[in-house]
Amino acid sequence: MALIKCPECGKEYSDTASACPHCGYTKNTQKYGKELGTGIKEGLKGLNTVCSPKKRKTCILLNVIPILGFIIFMSIGMSTTNDSISYIGIAFGLCGGIYQFYVGKIKLGIIYTITMGGFVIGAVLDLFKLLFTKTFKDSNGFPLIY
Ligand SMILES: [Zn+2]
Repeated sequence: MALIKCPECGKEYSDTASACPHCGYTKNTQKYGKELGTGIKEGLKGLNTVCSPKKRKTCILLNVIPILGFIIFMSIGMSTTNDSISYIGIAFGLCGGIYQFYVGKIKLGIIYTITMGGFVIGAVLDLFKLLFTKTFKDSNGFPLIY
């Protein structure tokens, strides 16, 4: 057991404790605080509300590539007798949860992986939110604006 100095209040506490007994600081506080800080900074750039530190363009790419790959390869696969092309389509479909993981929505990510982007519909709706209304939010409830 050793004593560590709390980066929040400066007092020492045991490294076996999960939180600082003086101010309640945890490692997650720091992680969340950092993300929130970036979000506020990004939001101030456009004089908008607090927004997500996650990049909208990256999220759009992670959303679009699996959907397009799924649609393209599935339609080619169905019009030929070559099953292996359909399998490529399925592989793309199974990546339909990646953008949810990217914004920290782990549970939705798993659901969207299993259901291939919420039966594609869910992913397309989120794409609409990302592209036009900019109301798609990360796991902290901050919209992806930039
Ligand atoms: Zn403390």
